[in-house]
Amino acid sequence: MPGVEALVGRLIQTASRRYLKFDDTSDVTELPGPKPTGSYLLYLHIPFCVTLCPFCSFHRVEFKKARAQTYFDALRREIRLATTAGYTFGEIYIGGGTPTVMPTELVRTIELVRELHDVTRISVETNPDDLDESIVSQLHQAGINRLSVGVQSFDDELLKEMKRYDKYGSGETIRRRLVRLRDTFDTLNVDMIFNFPHQTGASLQRDLAILTGEIAADQVSFYPLMATRTTRKAMQQSLGNVDFTRESSMYGQIADHMLASGYTRSSAWCFSRGTNMIDEYITEQNEYLGLGSGAFSYLDGRIMASTFSINHYMKRVEQGETGIVRQRVLGRTDTMRYYLLMRLFSGYLDLDAADAHFEGQFQKGLRPELAALRLYGAIQKQASTIRLTDRGYYLWVVMMREFFSGVNRLREQMRHNIARETEVIRAAG
Ligand code: SF4
Repeated sequence: MPGVEALVGRLIQTASRRYLKFDDTSDVTELPGPKPTGSYLLYLHIPFCVTLCPFCSFHRVEFKKARAQTYFDALRREIRLATTAGYTFGEIYIGGGTPTVMPTELVRTIELVRELHDVTRISVETNPDDLDESIVSQLHQAGINRLSVGVQSFDDELLKEMKRYDKYGSGETIRRRLVRLRDTFDTLNVDMIFNFPHQTGASLQRDLAILTGEIAADQVSFYPLMATRTTRKAMQQSLGNVDFTRESSMYGQIADHMLASGYTRSSAWCFSRGTNMIDEYITEQNEYLGLGSGAFSYLDGRIMASTFSINHYMKRVEQGETGIVRQRVLGRTDTMRYYLLMRLFSGYLDLDAADAHFEGQFQKGLRPELAALRLYGAIQKQASTIRLTDRGYYLWVVMMREFFSGVNRLREQMRHNIARETEVIRAAG
């Protein structure tokens, strides 16, 4: 990785260590009230997976049918609680784990939200083995606009290293399933990962040709491989050592191919044909409420997390409480930095709108950050809008990688809390 990006990566790492950290004094006893105007994005987390991939640091546990069934019941109860608390939702994003692990339960949950709220956009993540006709037609009928399929790579050797080959099929099987899905949803997104230790430029080029050729995906999100403390060892054993010095040239290869194939950037690592819903709802939405075990929320300058203990989650919901248990209140400057990071991830930021949002303090408060970005050649100003340059886009890949690594550390911290929460459940009898 070139020197400046490495330095910026380290700065973001230090900053995110500081503000993506829950202290012991920040327990949440009740859901903050919603603002009187506007509707929120609702994020729902389904933490079950049939296979646990070694590189994955999301909150996920092995799928057990009875447990997942009870979980979906609790999730619907929690949705009703948030609705009673006054929240209104116009958009839903369902992630995991594997949200489609019980399609009928997923559809019942979506139907409930649609019954209670005027929802116009629904995005759901899935895996390639959940793409058979009956599941796809259920999802389509439930009103899902955007289906996001986690593929990671079409290279069989890499799929085997990821331990996904046996469960999700070969690259060729996945390719055929995706071709059949063309034009079924408003947006078909394919999630990919780049910079696997044994990924070659030729292998990446084959993946790119499949995505923009036979599949003609509406959208492709290319995440840089990220390692966290808990996954590093398992990753090294199955995938090898990550070499960050290759990341910039691989990103260049991806961007060159996608832009030459008629796609535009929806974010630093998401490429779309036409106007599509994008994966990082956090770049478009100022605030969102996350429900379900392991979900994060961003409300009123606070990053909040729901318990990672599924037992504790179900117990709380049964008692009429949401699963949200921890929070970090961001100061004014950190809130503005978070806004800058998320908005510029989509490629541009309207300075007048930012100043209006922060009562005229945005440009003043972030003068050093904005000057440094200009000096480095990461942004260009056109009237009241700043836009990322080509150089800026890769810088943002590095910054977002480090930001998400910070979120992953937060997940590790939350997993640590499970023991403490189990004691709380026991003490409550
Ligand atoms: S990558 Fe997807 S399928 Fe694999 S463990 Fe993580 S959430 Fe589950």
